Amino acid sequence: MTTQFDAIIIGTGQSGPALAARLAAAGQRVAVVERKRFGGTCVNNGCIPTKTLVASARAAHVARRAGDFGVVINGPITVDMKQVKARKDAVVQQSNHGVESWMRGLANATVYTGQARFEGAHAVRVGADLLEADKIFINVGGRAVVPAMPGLESVPYLTNSSMMDVDFLPEHLIIIGGSYIGLEFGQMYRRFGSQVTIVEMGARLIARDDEDVSATAKEILENEGVNIRLHAECVTVAARGSQIIAHVDCTEGAPEISGSHLLLAVGRRPNTDDLDLDAAGVITDAKGYIVVDDQLRTNVPGIWALGDCNGKGAFTHTSYNDYEIVAANLLDRDPRRVSDRITAYALYIDPPLGRAGMTEAQVRATGKKALIGKRLMTRVGRAVEKGETQGFMKILVDAESHAILGAAILGIEGDEVIHSILDVMYTKQPYTVIQRAMHIHPTVSELVPTMLGDLKPLQ
Ligand SMILES: Cc1cc2nc3c(=O)[nH]c(=O)nc-3n(C[C@H](O)[C@H](O)[C@H](O)COP(=O)(O)OP(=O)(O)OC[C@H]3O[C@@H](n4cnc5c(N)ncnc54)[C@H](O)[C@@H]3O)c2cc1C
Repeated sequence: MTTQFDAIIIGTGQSGPALAARLAAAGQRVAVVERKRFGGTCVNNGCIPTKTLVASARAAHVARRAGDFGVVINGPITVDMKQVKARKDAVVQQSNHGVESWMRGLANATVYTGQARFEGAHAVRVGADLLEADKIFINVGGRAVVPAMPGLESVPYLTNSSMMDVDFLPEHLIIIGGSYIGLEFGQMYRRFGSQVTIVEMGARLIARDDEDVSATAKEILENEGVNIRLHAECVTVAARGSQIIAHVDCTEGAPEISGSHLLLAVGRRPNTDDLDLDAAGVITDAKGYIVVDDQLRTNVPGIWALGDCNGKGAFTHTSYNDYEIVAANLLDRDPRRVSDRITAYALYIDPPLGRAGMTEAQVRATGKKALIGKRLMTRVGRAVEKGETQGFMKILVDAESHAILGAAILGIEGDEVIHSILDVMYTKQPYTVIQRAMHIHPTVSELVPTMLGDLKPLQ
């Protein structure tokens, strides 16, 4: 059966549902297609469940540290993994149901469940249904990469998705990949009580961040007993009885790690290989990301790509910002662009990392004259009072224009405090605006002006 719509939205990630609602409210007939769970990665396997689990892990950590605060807990601190998972499931379910009932209840919208495949530039098949529309929005997201690692076919392994079903405590979790997902799961499971080893191919963790950020993140994890193996240039895995053995070709330390479970956290790839994009003529790059322009249009008129599948961001906020850009252009005559946005993200180890704009390495690479300010969390009163003094804050400023170029706050509340810097960056005002602002005492934020009062030339 063929049905005509004004717009088809493929995928209910972080941009599709909001765009469906805007278009439907504008009187357009919209088809929404989802093949799996409404809300996509963030809701079901990504941000929401992991941050819910991080909260459980932090509760265990704080309970173990209770004595530091003069609080006496008589007896051992134990974690009930079934309850941890049940709490996570309840939070996820609320969001997942929320998105699904929102879409199903939307006037002017029809929901189709199943795999969408293109049959032409304006035609999408979902099972027996053929949907046609002048406008098609692709929001299909991505999935975990399973690397071509020798021995992987002979051992059981977990990905960020199957980790969501874990309701037991792995005795020793080996995590391949020392980036955001690996670090978050690593600290979390260590706090739940597992032995954890993170194996990273590169010379340092979270390599896209500055060296001081990587080194401090490593220190934070190692302080809690997470084992970290860097320079693992050649990893192979094998089964030995009930154990998984990871052979690590390292330049330092023992070359073999024996663990009970293996988690692959080596990156993500876009879900563009099973969409039959060729039938529509939509171009992807060598990694499978859909090629889009600054307003998220593909090479085919009438087809847009939003979220992780366009390679312009890998976060919930970048996907949601994609929705805002497309909606502004289509419905508000507002020519918003991807290039208007400033890099911003967080890493949810505890304490977290909040990042905005350029890294120090990126600033150096521009060759611009710059100023740098840095302050250890041991010199932030609020952090001392909370007994959370690991980490630092750092800011980079253009020496001539005084524009803020970038910042990193790896420390307690870093994911929140970074926004005071990010928002001023959006206003394009000089750093002196923050330096002269009166901030509340006692907060972490009050030391941002202080740090700005002590800038030094970037050598
Ligand atoms: C473990 C983990 C933790 C994360 N933590 C954070 C975090 O803290 N903060 C943050 O900002 N980001 C985080 N992310 C990233 C974030 O989840 C994604 O960037 C975000 O979900 C944006 O995704 P999206 O909108 O592109 O699509 P997705 O959310 O991936 O959704 C795509 C949807 O499309 C559907 N679909 C795919 N193909 C088809 C098809 N052919 N037909 C029909 N439907 C289809 C899928 O089933 C899915 O529901 C995390 C990711 C992971 C894996």
